[in-house]
Amino acid sequence: MKLIFATNNQNKVEELQSAIGNIIEIISLKDAGINIDIPEPFDTLEENASEKSKTIYALTNMNCFSEDTGLETEALNGEPGVKSARYAGEDKAFDKNIDKLLLKLNGINNRNAQFRTVISLIIDNKEFLFEGICKGKIINERKGEKGFGYDPVFVPNGSDKTFAEMTMEEKNNFSHRKKAADKLITFLQENFK
Ligand code: IMP
Repeated sequence: MKLIFATNNQNKVEELQSAIGNIIEIISLKDAGINIDIPEPFDTLEENASEKSKTIYALTNMNCFSEDTGLETEALNGEPGVKSARYAGEDKAFDKNIDKLLLKLNGINNRNAQFRTVISLIIDNKEFLFEGICKGKIINERKGEKGFGYDPVFVPNGSDKTFAEMTMEEKNNFSHRKKAADKLITFLQENFK
């Protein structure tokens, strides 16, 4: 089965292809020759994920999925949440976003946080949603060079490494995106053999 993945983020394409293996062939927007920046205007991950997959389905008439992810911290009442990409500004700069988060959490003992991913799948014009959550902690300073986004400051529960210190395979043992992807795969295997 082939599915278009409605994202321009190459890290996400690689992570999901590695999470899904050979079961589904993922076609990135780039590979499909589609060059658009789909807006994420809504206040929930679910609505933004829907918007992205519906936009691509309308454009291509091909089965597709999208995902939206947010980092939710307990002490900041869920911030940066749905605004994770643009936390420190419209340029979506990973470094500035981390700086802002560390500044806001400075001196706060409660470092509990979670990544939450919502996948919106559209098959034959019907939508299905899948969620994946990874709980962990925000540390005080960056560690590691791998991954993207907030990976250098996030340590998942059950590990002493940040996501940025892990290989993709290690990250997949904990990852929110992998958990949502597993639900997507199970659904496809059960319903579209
Ligand atoms: P979006 O789903 O592209 O809107 O992602 C929102 C933002 O969350 C991204 O720009 C990243 O900064 C961050 N993010 C999403 N997934 C991850 C992840 O797996 N690790 C670290 N940061 C992530």
